[in-house]
Amino acid sequence: SPAPLSNFLRTIIDNDLAKGRYAGKRWAGKPGPASVQQQGSVDTAQIRTRFPPEPNGYLHIGHAKAICLNFGLARDYHGACHLRFDDTNPEKEEEEYVNAIIDMVQWLGFDWTYGEESNCYFASDYFGYMYLFAQELVRAGHAYVDEQNAEQIRAMRGTLTEKGKDSPWRNRPAEESLALLEEMRQGKHPDGSLALRAKIDMGSPNMNMRDPVMYRIRHAAHHRSGNEWCIYPMYAWAHPVEDALEGITHSVCTLEFEDQRPFYDWILNHLAELGQLSLPLPRQYEFARLNLSYVVTSKRKLLQLVREGRVNGWDDPRMPTLAGLRRRGYTPESIRLFCERLGVSKADSRIDYSVLEQALRDDLDPKAMRTVAVIDPVKLVITNYPEGQTELCHAPRTPHDSAAGSREFPFTRELWIERDDFKEDPPKKYFRLFPGNTVRLKYGYIVKCTGCVKNEHGDVIEVQAEYLPETKSGTPGSDSVKVKGNITWVSAAHAVAAEIRMYDRLFSDPHPDAGDKDFLAALNPESCQVVQGWLEPGTQAAPGATWQFERLGYFVADRHESTPEKPVINRAVTLKDSWVQ
Ligand code: ATP
Ligand code: MG
Ligand code: MG
Repeated sequence: SPAPLSNFLRTIIDNDLAKGRYAGKRWAGKPGPASVQQQGSVDTAQIRTRFPPEPNGYLHIGHAKAICLNFGLARDYHGACHLRFDDTNPEKEEEEYVNAIIDMVQWLGFDWTYGEESNCYFASDYFGYMYLFAQELVRAGHAYVDEQNAEQIRAMRGTLTEKGKDSPWRNRPAEESLALLEEMRQGKHPDGSLALRAKIDMGSPNMNMRDPVMYRIRHAAHHRSGNEWCIYPMYAWAHPVEDALEGITHSVCTLEFEDQRPFYDWILNHLAELGQLSLPLPRQYEFARLNLSYVVTSKRKLLQLVREGRVNGWDDPRMPTLAGLRRRGYTPESIRLFCERLGVSKADSRIDYSVLEQALRDDLDPKAMRTVAVIDPVKLVITNYPEGQTELCHAPRTPHDSAAGSREFPFTRELWIERDDFKEDPPKKYFRLFPGNTVRLKYGYIVKCTGCVKNEHGDVIEVQAEYLPETKSGTPGSDSVKVKGNITWVSAAHAVAAEIRMYDRLFSDPHPDAGDKDFLAALNPESCQVVQGWLEPGTQAAPGATWQFERLGYFVADRHESTPEKPVINRAVTLKDSWVQ
């Protein structure tokens, strides 16, 4: 594959490596404080990055950007990328999400092993180390137990224009804080009654430095540590500690954490001074998150769609989750291609959904086998073709690879064609079937339309035509008659019946949750139209099978519901962008 495009992170890493910042450092292959890490063998990973999802929902397309970035850096720099579950919020996290995240990272084509190391970790496994670190910080006078409740703490925090005020408990003796911290841990105090805070600066212009809360009391069971803990660390200090325990070199996160960086460094520098962490310390870098039009990516909103039954679960093919995209027919290659095209920058921008769709087309076009489907069928009767007669027509499996060979399917007197391919009164420039016009039945004969049959409501129920016997595709003289229209068809007696789900965008508003808009009001009422269609004879709709249906787009057999006997087909994407305004 081509050399990756340069970006500001690669420039930083190139410089770090040129300076030998990580040369000769040791890593035990096991996360831990300085005492543990130094016992390891020589580290061969040049750099370490991490992807740190919170297991409180399914991964979405935004996460794919972070995954491709972090695992991509590790791959290109002979480094390791850790998959770390940032599971420090017991109430919202579940085992189901852990498994779904593992599944999706692997599906995207990445893995967290590095040589003998399997770098899949859980922040909750570090709760013990975090507690020791908190005690060290208290002993050194860098943290204290505050007896104010959350509301009081908030009120004393000040505003952007007004300095905060010191808590009355700020200068209590370290022994007092240590004893209270231990009581907090032992469950002697109710939720919210006490908190451990870093002692930094209530006058700092950076609100995150105004004595941020480090531990809060939560008497809640954790999906992994059970009831072992009733104090849980806040993200802002847990995260740098997790990075340091794992020997992460470059901690890449989205821009909204920029203001947290001073606290990130504060925590790590103090713990390093106290001899708790091995050097060099990880450094945080920020990049612009992916904002994609026509979707929402907040996990809270995605959860709401699922809970309220607006979609059929996290992997509904209209969902921007990776599980949904997979079910919709997206390939891992198409998502990686999309992320490559996005690049990495520090400037926030919004990407149009069509960029994602185009990546899928570009990935599938060279590799998807072609087949024919008729999704809005009307009968075409070839009135001069003998009843009961069958002959085979041939078509390439794909126009891009002659080695893939050809497919064959029968031509008969009664065919299914698209309703849209016939008009009794054709508009200008309509080159398909209308009385008196000739078109080619793709891979078959040229036919001349002679009329149609209607029911009592005036709906066309049958189109009629006569075929021109000397014009079969691939035979000499087949192009003696010139036609402008070329339409697809399947033999009615041989076609495979299928349920086809014509998916479209879930939201019809390009910015469904901009400002304080009600994103539910922007749901596209036509995001899923189910039709009964007909597939080319011989189509094997095994779950996950993907094709280009000629003229229609890319389709996939639903991975849960499709069987060869009863195909259920999802439209992944149309051939062209139909949303261009
Ligand atoms: P939400 O706010 O919806 O809960 P999150 O960012 O909290 O999402 P995490 O599970 O914490 O979700 O995310 C794991 C990683 O994925 C983080 O490092 C985060 O920066 C990154 N990430 C999440 N959303 C995006 C996005 N839209 N674009 C790029 N990276 C993202
Ligand atoms: Mg979150
Ligand atoms: Mg998060």
